[in-house]
Amino acid sequence: MPYRAVDYLALDDQLTDDERLVRDTFRRFVDEELMPIVAGHFRAGTFPPWLPRRLGELGALGAHLKGCGCAGLGPVAYGLLMQELERCDSGFRSFASVQGSLVMYPIWAFGSEAQKERWLPRMARGEAIGCFGLTEPDFGSNPSGMRTTAVRDGRGFVLNGGKRWITSGGIADVAIVWAKVDGEIRGFLVERGTPGYSTRDIEGKFSLRASVTSELVFEECRLPEDALLPGTKGLRSPLQCLGEARFGISWGALGAAMACYDEALSYCKERVQFSRPIAGYQLVQDKLVGMLEDITCGQLIALRLGRLKEQGKLRPQQVSLAKRHNVRIALAVARTARELLGANGVTDEYQCGRHLCNLESVYTYEGTDHIHTLVLGQDITGIGAFE
Ligand SMILES: Cc1cc2nc3c(=O)[nH]c(=O)nc-3n(C[C@H](O)[C@H](O)[C@H](O)COP(=O)(O)OP(=O)(O)OC[C@H]3O[C@@H](n4cnc5c(N)ncnc54)[C@H](O)[C@@H]3O)c2cc1C
Repeated sequence: MPYRAVDYLALDDQLTDDERLVRDTFRRFVDEELMPIVAGHFRAGTFPPWLPRRLGELGALGAHLKGCGCAGLGPVAYGLLMQELERCDSGFRSFASVQGSLVMYPIWAFGSEAQKERWLPRMARGEAIGCFGLTEPDFGSNPSGMRTTAVRDGRGFVLNGGKRWITSGGIADVAIVWAKVDGEIRGFLVERGTPGYSTRDIEGKFSLRASVTSELVFEECRLPEDALLPGTKGLRSPLQCLGEARFGISWGALGAAMACYDEALSYCKERVQFSRPIAGYQLVQDKLVGMLEDITCGQLIALRLGRLKEQGKLRPQQVSLAKRHNVRIALAVARTARELLGANGVTDEYQCGRHLCNLESVYTYEGTDHIHTLVLGQDITGIGAFE
């Protein structure tokens, strides 16, 4: 069945021609090149090795950045691109988010001219892959407690510690590693092959199986002075990167939700039980309408978020609201779709079970649902419920 996107409030009218063009280009790419291969990769637990270069050819990597070979898309076009990728699989969108928002963005925002020249054009083409190491085994929601340290040694640094749950870690040519230097968090570029740096992939995931997730280990790892990202200063630097990525997730999660809704609607119109298609039962219609309503609210939030970002007025708390809402509804939509497909919903012949499993990670990474709730709670009450 061809994919039919949700647009109940005719939000297409609010997009520019260029934004529609980007969306339609990636919609075609996803239909023709990604949908046919995704279930196989999810089942095998593999990431398509050709995907980085293909995304690079299409201008999807670091697409929201200007200069250094990046496409320089506006926020809404970038959001629509993320939405289309995640309509196929959250793992593919995660790869693009990490590469663009968590690796290219910090190099672009905090790097020296030499670091930008060395990495950004190759990363935009998908010839070099990056990962972002913030989370540690004992510090997830509270990264400020991190134990990884970089100690000054002559003209360079010695890095010790470890990171866990790092997207693309095992395939990355360079890792952005956040470590404490004399107690202050700074960012470093650590290249694959540096003595004392190793990675190990995490096996047995139920979720994001078409994405590589790894541990990074640093043992007396010597870094030159120019491995430091000079503009990084404290926890606010990685948080700024996460803000960029969460913007993309707010759009991306809608893609997964729309795929599940589309699948459920078609299925319910065709599946006959008792005397009629199950779409003709009131209980089923109630669920389909609820999904439509949730997605439409999410679309309004995402579009407004994009326009605020365009105007330079977007606050991190507004991104928290969008991430929290849109991932929550996407997870609920995926679960309802799974329910409406009955037994078929638990096989990978259909998409909703895969999206449901993937969205569990999206709900947890880039700030858990709880943490975004606390950020918003603090914003509206003025009282912090966490440090
Ligand atoms: C597939 C995948 C890919 C990932 N990719 C990356 C990556 O590329 N780079 C990276 O750095 N990290 C990555 N992560 C890590 C992710 O960001 C963390 O898992 C996340 O921040 C949560 O940390 P945690 O798992 O340690 O959970 P914890 O922080 O231990 O939280 C466990 C539970 O406690 C709750 N909790 C914690 N503190 C509070 C509080 N104060 N109040 C109320 N509830 C609280 C949480 O909400 C959660 O429900 C990835 C994770 C996954 C699953």
